Amino acid sequence: MKQREQLYEGKAKKVYATDDPELLIVSYKDDATAFNGAKRGTIEGKGVINNRMSNILMRYLQTKGVATHFVEELNDRDTIVKKVAIVPLEVIVRNISAGSFAKRYGVEEGIVFDAPTVEFSYKNDDLGDPLINDDHAIALKLATAGEIKQIKEYALTVNRELQKLWSECGVTLVDFKLEFGRLADGTIVLADEISPDTCRLWDSATKEKLDKDRFRRDLGGVEDAYRTIMGRLEQYMEQQK
Ligand code: ADP
Ligand code: UDP
Repeated sequence: MKQREQLYEGKAKKVYATDDPELLIVSYKDDATAFNGAKRGTIEGKGVINNRMSNILMRYLQTKGVATHFVEELNDRDTIVKKVAIVPLEVIVRNISAGSFAKRYGVEEGIVFDAPTVEFSYKNDDLGDPLINDDHAIALKLATAGEIKQIKEYALTVNRELQKLWSECGVTLVDFKLEFGRLADGTIVLADEISPDTCRLWDSATKEKLDKDRFRRDLGGVEDAYRTIMGRLEQYMEQQK
């Protein structure tokens, strides 16, 4: 597989064309941003961890019936994925109140919900990724009603399976963001990444934050937290062999 020209450089990854028009290479960087790019920094080793973790979780989810873009891990930072047209929705699943949910509704963090919630943000940096409902997404032709149904089903399956997996690692899955895309034939697949950048992960016993909130909120120990959470997952995966 030959890497061709860079197609895009985002906040956390670069995307390259390949000699196969249906495949891309994503390359994970150590750059970190928060608050729609207003806060910038570097998390040493993050790209390596996010690449590995996202690939482990995508492979796992494929065994649970979730179609994903994952094809092959090339090295520490680079992975071949199926090229998709990204559905411009950030799909957020929550099990416990935190972050923008707590702020928006004026509640504390840590309220455990009876059932998970799914919400969408319109993926549009200029507008600051505003909250959007299903009807608005359909009206704006961001996705069809059928696609939204499929995306929600996948999102809840991802939540159920990853909640189980992380609990085996002594970790509580608080909330996370997913992105989906369409293959050339219109099939919806899970794309982008699943990592401590895109999930809130709390140590189940101590409630210690093991995710990007350590960077967002200047809590310190950011690199350690990323290494700890990766270590927990790898240890669990090793035990399953
Ligand atoms: P951002 O664009 O928010 O700064 P990244 O730095 O993570 O985010 O850039 C990666 C970009 O690649 C994102 O815009 C994401 O939607 C897109 N992407 C992820 N997976 C795929 C895929 N399989 N095909 C096409 N684009 C993808
Ligand atoms: N999230 C993300 N990218 C975004 C916004 C949110 O990966 O652009 C993730 C975030 O890491 C958290 C979940 O989605 O796990 C819910 O985030 P929230 O809406 O609470 O927003 P935040 O507090 O990050 O602004």
